[in-house]
Amino acid sequence: MRNFIKLITVAFLAVIVLAACGGNDTSSNEKEINNDEKLKVITTFTLLEDIVKQIGGEYVETYNLVPVGTDPHEYEPLPQDIKETEDADVLFFNGLNLEGGDGGWFTKLTESTGQDDAIIYEVSAGVEPMYLSSEDGTEEEVNPHSFLDPNVGMIMADNIKEALIEVSPENKEEIEENAQAYQTTLEEMDEQYKTRFAEIPKEDHILVTSERAYQYMADRYDLKEGFIWEVDTEENGSPEQITTLVEFIKEENPPVLFVESNVDSRPMETVSNESGVDIFEDKLYSDEIGALGEEADTYIKYLQYNIDKIHAGLTR
Ligand SMILES: [Zn+2]
Repeated sequence: MRNFIKLITVAFLAVIVLAACGGNDTSSNEKEINNDEKLKVITTFTLLEDIVKQIGGEYVETYNLVPVGTDPHEYEPLPQDIKETEDADVLFFNGLNLEGGDGGWFTKLTESTGQDDAIIYEVSAGVEPMYLSSEDGTEEEVNPHSFLDPNVGMIMADNIKEALIEVSPENKEEIEENAQAYQTTLEEMDEQYKTRFAEIPKEDHILVTSERAYQYMADRYDLKEGFIWEVDTEENGSPEQITTLVEFIKEENPPVLFVESNVDSRPMETVSNESGVDIFEDKLYSDEIGALGEEADTYIKYLQYNIDKIHAGLTR
């Protein structure tokens, strides 16, 4: 018996040695990228980090500022964030007021670290802004949530591609290849959104969520929007906001109500109790993609997840 175990052990070690040699043989043929040569990229929120990784591939090393489960509209940078921002080769922010706009937390962070404006890129540059209305209806504020529309994703991916090529022209060919494949996936996603929204009866094209995050998507695919509050930074779930939405629901009669992954679900529970319309069992994603390993942990999966849940909810 002991000899048998010995034999097994020897055979096992031999396999390991062979595997290790084999590994060395193949890797010596590949182009190796030293960690020092990688571009150090800062992103403000998880969705951007994912697009940068998809397009930058092995040429980038990312550091994301606002973690999953945290509001990107208002954020308090940590000491580590400040250090990483100082050391970055290129920085990406969404813009369209997502990070609080001029004078918001991201502007303050880059100004305090003395980062060069030339390497700070606004990923939503070129996106046609849509506006929220303030409670008294006088002031208009840009709605930051344009990325819920896959067509906006195409503009963002293009901006990221151009920026990465600008800061690392030596990697142009591979970055362009990655970006092309990514654009094709986004185009297919847009086709899928069109097809699946067309399957939902016209009278059920009503999307009720907590925050008014789906304005761009609703405009693109012709949905009526119901919401409790316009943007996370304002009062969330006041009695007036609840009453207004309950009246909207009684008039429009949506099949279900939705709650987003990053908001307090209690105000929508009140709306559901007062209107008699159920909340859909799964949350939608808006300001963030899922944590690594979760169902919607890339931007593409996030878009897929949202259309799957919205379609399921509105066709019941
Ligand atoms: Zn938001």
